[in-house]
Amino acid sequence: MTNKPDVPAPAFVKRIGSIVDLRRNVEFRPLETEELVNRFKDSRFPFGWTVNPYRGCEFGCRYCYARPTHGYLGHTDPAEFERRIYVKRADMTKLVARLGKARESGEEVAIGAVTDPYQPAEGRFAVTRRVLEAVARLPGLRVGITSKSAAITRDLDLLTTIAAQSDLIVNVSLASMDAALLRRVEPRAPRPDLRLEAMARLSASGIPVRLFAMPLLPFLTDGENALRTLFTAARAAGAREAIWNVLFLRGETHGFFMDFIRAEFPELEPRYRKLYRGGASADGAYRGRIDVLGRRLTAEIGFPGRTRSDRMAEERPARPRQLLLEL
Ligand code: SF4
Repeated sequence: MTNKPDVPAPAFVKRIGSIVDLRRNVEFRPLETEELVNRFKDSRFPFGWTVNPYRGCEFGCRYCYARPTHGYLGHTDPAEFERRIYVKRADMTKLVARLGKARESGEEVAIGAVTDPYQPAEGRFAVTRRVLEAVARLPGLRVGITSKSAAITRDLDLLTTIAAQSDLIVNVSLASMDAALLRRVEPRAPRPDLRLEAMARLSASGIPVRLFAMPLLPFLTDGENALRTLFTAARAAGAREAIWNVLFLRGETHGFFMDFIRAEFPELEPRYRKLYRGGASADGAYRGRIDVLGRRLTAEIGFPGRTRSDRMAEERPARPRQLLLEL
């Protein structure tokens, strides 16, 4: 990121409003956006539209790959990603129009693919809820919601309506049942038991849920017993399947996460350096071992499971809904 400290990129200068709230040393500002529902054309991904109601995320995961995008807003200190949260405006007319286009395309609308739609800001600003209100007006959509937060259960009423008339899946992001460990890695995200409880409530309400066991952290959350415990708990909570992926360290996230490892788990630093010497991805042999382990454990438990790469390959390209109806 080449931005100067405190100087937003020109495209953002006029879009940033003044502070509307300041709490817990976190600042919230409005951010004007042309559209909240954005076209996403990368054919490697299984969705064609994205909705991210907030920029920045208070949960503060150490591995968060969205962190460097705050540079465009003039925030060069990576920690500001957690303390300067930008809130997008939800215009119902625009939302409905845009979601109508998404429905025509037959491609999935991914809510929260970059930042968490149920981070603490949602409790105050309810932008995600507004998006769901628009989704509920358009039966026949394909929608995926990804979150680490138990706060999603606030919207059970809307989610139940949407699940009855659209193709909805909720991806609960949880890579370990070790609450003490996650407190260090994902400092302000909800505890694992709360996420599982949310999963169980959603599932009991007829909302399809799956476990996003990612990112799996080498030498920290990749142990056989730990993964067995996680998969077993998610299955018991009603998840339909598990999808896993090993930690990926893109761009500036690489340095930020390595600093964290050096500070919190110094004994692991040499192993991490070796594993990620090739760049963003962990060594291929290691990833292969984790995939074999994941497949074996999910098979033993009787819980459908696949890798993120499998999902990418199997769910893309999305066939337009119209074509599906014609088959
Ligand atoms: S919850 Fe998601 S968006 Fe928020 S900090 Fe963690 S990884 Fe980033």
